[in-house]
Amino acid sequence: MKKLVVATGNRHKTEEIRAMLGAGYAVSDLQSYPELPAVEETGSTFLENATLKAVEISQQVAGLVLSDDSGLEVDALGGAPGVYSARYAGEDGNDAANNAKLLSELDGERCRTARFRCVMVLAEKGEVLAHFDGAVDGSIINQQQGTAGFGYDPLFVPDGHDQTFAQLGDEIKNGLSHRARAMEKVVPWLMSHV
Ligand code: IMP
Repeated sequence: MKKLVVATGNRHKTEEIRAMLGAGYAVSDLQSYPELPAVEETGSTFLENATLKAVEISQQVAGLVLSDDSGLEVDALGGAPGVYSARYAGEDGNDAANNAKLLSELDGERCRTARFRCVMVLAEKGEVLAHFDGAVDGSIINQQQGTAGFGYDPLFVPDGHDQTFAQLGDEIKNGLSHRARAMEKVVPWLMSHV
């Protein structure tokens, strides 16, 4: 079985990637390496941050490392929260506060179009092997709906659906999300190179 370390402590991301990779891969993440210091996401683009994470982590763990930097771009907010999605309301990873802030920023706004974007970087021994991207268009509704997933899932309705990612659930989300679209490029790359 091939080993792959996902450079994240976000269990939801790891589970999504594990489900998309299937049975041929032993997938772990940074929760298995509590001794590693957090990588500072100092980049101004998803690619810069994904590269920082993949390069730093692959210098410290053996084997292939896959990083994901992702976020929500809202058109009426000029692309915000973008790379700051995880800490939009200040505290890193506080989904409730982030969702509340997003709703308040969009209060009274009629243009609700948005997209989730994801950039993934594969690295080994500190060297970037390849990078991939994926996006899913949709819109932001007026109040949270659903309990599955994480982050902005309860506010995001993907185009072609009338429920949020948090209502649609993991199986449907994993078929059409930004991470799924990036993974559709990662999987054939892994199959032909590793
Ligand atoms: P990162 O861990 O620095 O890439 O930050 C990702 C942040 O973007 C998360 O904390 C969420 O706020 C948001 N995000 C990324 N992907 C998703 C998703 O699939 N659903 C909901 N929110 C997401």
